[in-house]
Amino acid sequence: MAELGNPRSTIEIIQKHGFLFQKKFGQNFLIDPHVLEKIIRAAGITGEDFVLEIGPGIGTMTQYLAEAAGHVCAVEIDRNLIPILHETLAGYENVSVLNEDILKVDVAALVRERNGGRPIKVVANLPYYITTPIIMGLFESHVPLKSVTVMVQKEVADRMKSGPGSKDYGALSLAVQYYAEAYLAANVPPNCFMPRPKVGSAVIRLTCHKEPPVKVKDERLMFRLIRASFNQRRKTLANSLGNSPELSFTKEEIGAALEEMGLSPTVRGEALTLEQFAELADRLAAAVTEA
Ligand code: SAM
Repeated sequence: MAELGNPRSTIEIIQKHGFLFQKKFGQNFLIDPHVLEKIIRAAGITGEDFVLEIGPGIGTMTQYLAEAAGHVCAVEIDRNLIPILHETLAGYENVSVLNEDILKVDVAALVRERNGGRPIKVVANLPYYITTPIIMGLFESHVPLKSVTVMVQKEVADRMKSGPGSKDYGALSLAVQYYAEAYLAANVPPNCFMPRPKVGSAVIRLTCHKEPPVKVKDERLMFRLIRASFNQRRKTLANSLGNSPELSFTKEEIGAALEEMGLSPTVRGEALTLEQFAELADRLAAAVTEA
């Protein structure tokens, strides 16, 4: 039976081990069983699932995951948490703990070695200082994924779900759209964590597409265009792409591609849909090949 996930047991275990919270690791532990149950339900964990948990902390959510999943692999950066995890997860035979920085783990290789390359589910109460690199890293390195169910800052959840014209629309919104279907499972207030974060949080489930919703010849080029246009979002698309050190298209090539697409030469990146970024990438790639 899961034993953590309430203020009393969390305080007991951290005091017993003399654990000190490290702000630099984004440590805000969940202390509300209703939220934990909601996350497990949103992720739809079954005995068939191999789950990767990023940042298990003292093992609170890991216990819930271990009771529902076939196997849980938990990756924790803070070595001071490892002896605690050995104690809190001692009763579970289907859990392995790795003391690593998730940004340095080759997750695709881990899935090959530990789950025969079959798609996994990622479930995490993410450290907020690296939410975007973690999610983008999983997607861009083509880790076989069924879904990613994560607690993130409310503002990041809004960015993941927004479309053209909204102030929250950006590179993350487009990447999420390209790789997955986003569903907001719960809003979570600061008092569900210890210590309390300064911001509101939300649980979001990203169910990965089998096929991307748009076809593009060069996916990397499309994402370079997307990043460049939102790096300078107040500028016109022609200027931000023309000025980007990551790209080598002339303003004329960009202008011609926009015209062929029926777009204004002064259009900004924030007005383009995913389909339009895919078309722009295909047109620019073709223009360079022809030149
Ligand atoms: N899962 C626990 C819970 O819900 O109570 C803890 C969540 S806490 C928001 C984030 C966890 O991620 C912390 O345990 C922190 O030490 C860990 N963490 C931070 N950076 C990490 C990294 N680069 N790789 C792996 N774990 C990391």
